[in-house]
Amino acid sequence: MANDFEVAIIGSGFGGAVTACRLAAAGRKVLVLERGRDWKREDYPRAPGDAWLWDDDCPERCNGWIDLRRFGDMTVVQGAAVGGGSLIYANVSVAAEPFVFEAGWPAEITYQALQPHYEAAGRMLNVQELPDNQLTERFKLMRDGAAALGHAARFRKLPLAVTFDQDWHYGLDDAHDDRHSKPWTNPQGQAQGTCVHCGNCDIGCQVGAKNTLDLNYLAAARTAGTEIRADHIVRKLTPLDGGGYRVGFERIVEGRLIPGAVTADRVVLAAGSLGSTELLLRCRDEHRTLDRLSDRLGHGWCSNGDFLTPAVYLDRRISPTRGPTITAAIDFLDGSQDGNRFFVEDGGFPDVLGNSIAEVTANAAKAGGPFATLFAAAGALAGGRDPLDCIMPWFGQAVDVADGHLYLGRPWWNPLARKVLRLDWNFAKSEAVVQAMVEMHKDLSKATGGIPVEPLYWRWFRDLVTPHPLGGCAMADDPRNGVVDGRGRVHGHAGLYVADGAVLPCAIGLNPSRTIAALAEHIAAAMIAE
Ligand SMILES: Cc1cc2nc3c(=O)[nH]c(=O)nc-3n(C[C@H](O)[C@H](O)[C@H](O)COP(=O)(O)OP(=O)(O)OC[C@H]3O[C@@H](n4cnc5c(N)ncnc54)[C@H](O)[C@@H]3O)c2cc1C
Ligand code: SF4
Repeated sequence: MANDFEVAIIGSGFGGAVTACRLAAAGRKVLVLERGRDWKREDYPRAPGDAWLWDDDCPERCNGWIDLRRFGDMTVVQGAAVGGGSLIYANVSVAAEPFVFEAGWPAEITYQALQPHYEAAGRMLNVQELPDNQLTERFKLMRDGAAALGHAARFRKLPLAVTFDQDWHYGLDDAHDDRHSKPWTNPQGQAQGTCVHCGNCDIGCQVGAKNTLDLNYLAAARTAGTEIRADHIVRKLTPLDGGGYRVGFERIVEGRLIPGAVTADRVVLAAGSLGSTELLLRCRDEHRTLDRLSDRLGHGWCSNGDFLTPAVYLDRRISPTRGPTITAAIDFLDGSQDGNRFFVEDGGFPDVLGNSIAEVTANAAKAGGPFATLFAAAGALAGGRDPLDCIMPWFGQAVDVADGHLYLGRPWWNPLARKVLRLDWNFAKSEAVVQAMVEMHKDLSKATGGIPVEPLYWRWFRDLVTPHPLGGCAMADDPRNGVVDGRGRVHGHAGLYVADGAVLPCAIGLNPSRTIAALAEHIAAAMIAE
């Protein structure tokens, strides 16, 4: 009997959206199963009681679009939605640099080979730079900092998956009001708007200026016949005797989980670094349905060196809640800083976060302590303005060491508990490069009149937070070194693929979504050619 679908894709982020679009356009019968909701702009969470968070322990009740995972010293932030991380990401869509591909990749993955795929992704995501008449205060501060330290040549605008209106500018009356967003229809027939610099990128763009995956790749996939099922959590993959796989899932329906399954000739895992790795680990170690997976499964994980250092400016207004979240970079990926490769960016945050931080700092001010004094001093010297207006979030990524290990384990105090995804990660080998970026953040702050505040969670505990989890199902020509080959094919299991952030064998030191999309373009092209 024929399987239900030619291709089942698990997850609808960068890997899933790209493969769905390309395979459907090539005439394949494609199904996408996505655990998150199919969000409409008018339903985006905004108020404190809205559905912000996803809880993997009780997804039937708690299925918001931010999935926060705490693993000892590492916290991972990821998206859960039709469109994956794109709905809440900061829109930076930048290609990795050539050095990344010099070692550790399968032979067919080279910087040169990926260029057409980077370009194809850039066209679909409609990437563009911040117009010169719309420079944000953070942009200007970064430019000043780079010049003051003699690094002007390293400063550059970043490509963003945002639609700008050349006529918009900060001098408009009530400039950030949604009414200044101009409606337009994109090539996939989706209604969008233009950017009004409201600063909400990381909580979803209410005017549709962000070129998110649901509006381009997934819209094109739907037009080409792809079925996208939201609220479907895939739990198990079982090879079928006649070829293909049975994909077992649980569907979220009115606060309950309803089991179900489909069959497909080929399955593409695109559930993200944690999601794809966990599913394969469960199939190998719990269900025992995929017993030929590489021993490297779960190994080679990294955080892509993300770090944020806030700095307080007493005589300069930064307005971190205005403008697209990130717009520019100072590029130190050439290793010129004692061999450490990193990429400094500005990092804004949305008003909603600003309001809650303001509440926290107000409470901290009442309680006393060093941070309270700092914020209070900044507020007073700034003439009673909101102290958050004077904060520059210096942000960035670094090429850290991919030595994290994901595995399934129980808490030591409860041998009967269900096994959960765990991560062994140690700062030791990545400490130098992260600290080099922190020191550069501090130098940039001081050179521009700011007071840097190295976060205590790093200074005291060496803890990190990352929105860029990478690895777990690394690419390698040989199964002794990786889980999938250079075309995303899982070693040992024909018809099974991985096409997302899990396949990266190393950190790339800058925002990864464009590289994930380019690799997925490559994998989809190879699948179509097969
Ligand atoms: C706040 C924030 C800001 C960011 N900003 C940027 C940026 O500016 N530029 C950049 O390049 N990157 C950015 N990132 C990172 C970027 O979003 C990720 O690198 C990217 O989304 C990863 O793509 P992916 O396809 O690997 O996985 P994802 O986009 O995470 O997609 C995986 C999908 O699979 C689904 N899934 C997981 N498990 C299952 C399951 N069992 N069954 C069904 N579905 C499942 C998830 O819900 C998710 O939708 C940001 C991330 C965050 C959180
Ligand atoms: S700044 Fe506001 S309008 Fe512009 S892309 Fe971000 S959320 Fe959309």
